[in-house]
Amino acid sequence: MAILVTGGLGYVGSHAVKLLVDRGEQVINLDDLSYGHVGAASGSEVVIGDIGDAGLLKSIFSKYTIDAVMHFAAFAAVGESVENPQKYYINNISKSIVLLQEMLAAGVKKMIFSSTAAVFGEPQVVPIPEDHPKDPTNPYGRSKLMLEEILSEYDHAYGLKWTALRYFNASGADPSGTIGEDHTPEHHLIPIVLDVALGKREKVSIFGTDWPTPDGTCVRDYVHVTDLANAHILALEALRSGASSNVYNMGNGSGYSVKEVITVAEEVTGKKIAAVPAERRAGDPARLVASSEKIKKELGWKPQFADLPTIISTAWEWHKNHPNGFGDK
Ligand code: UDP
Repeated sequence: MAILVTGGLGYVGSHAVKLLVDRGEQVINLDDLSYGHVGAASGSEVVIGDIGDAGLLKSIFSKYTIDAVMHFAAFAAVGESVENPQKYYINNISKSIVLLQEMLAAGVKKMIFSSTAAVFGEPQVVPIPEDHPKDPTNPYGRSKLMLEEILSEYDHAYGLKWTALRYFNASGADPSGTIGEDHTPEHHLIPIVLDVALGKREKVSIFGTDWPTPDGTCVRDYVHVTDLANAHILALEALRSGASSNVYNMGNGSGYSVKEVITVAEEVTGKKIAAVPAERRAGDPARLVASSEKIKKELGWKPQFADLPTIISTAWEWHKNHPNGFGDK
């Protein structure tokens, strides 16, 4: 039995692929290379193509006996989703519906889905539990919430079992040093801050210094990408054992402001990081911090890299040793 991973050459997907391959799973890694890197394959069987290509999916499902799908392939930049929502709805919704259609046609009824903290919008309580009201502040978050709802209806109607893992801020790099974060263009805070430390950028812009938070900058819950990858393995095992569909928030339960991230990065790298105040970024909530008690209790998830200095240290090792990322873009 093989696992079909979509977007398995991207940041979080490639870390899950590595753990799957290390465990001896057969991994079919479908990626359109829009953001992925062939250098991130970790020995998986790469198929370059589109998750919206029904013919390609039919051929994959007929060639391999697929046990479950891990669905990472999506666009994930909050600001861009506000400027170009169509890109998000076509890719994250329409194409996912084609993927689901072909899964069902092939009788594949297990999916682990990459969801996001952005489904919540501005939180009413922090840390945020799974059943917190959902009111996304941007099309990216809305696209992920819609797919969660679609999955729930597909379970009811077709018996599709699914687990959504709602990532808060995925960060860091696999401790092996072989894979890490490499987006072009880069939108995320930690890699941008580390680019400044490397001298690749002059400064980081702080998107808003007048938010209703202790130091006026946005607060986020940074969770290590290898800890996220491990959660996918736990979710796969649970579905294989007959678990019902479920949703889990994935974070460390502690929030760090943009300014705090910069300070920790200065400590880790030993470099001064120039930062300048800038306009708020459209679509950003002020504060997102997860309660991940549910996945700890139900699936036994134990984060190994829970503190921010460790997370940034693993990211720094990757960026220092791979200043041009995978070197293919
Ligand atoms: N951010 C920032 N400057 C940047 C990139 C991000 O101030 O150059 C802020 C952003 O507004 C958010 C936080 O850093 O409050 C984390 O943003 P990121 O894009 O890394 O992740 P997101 O929270 O959007 O998933």
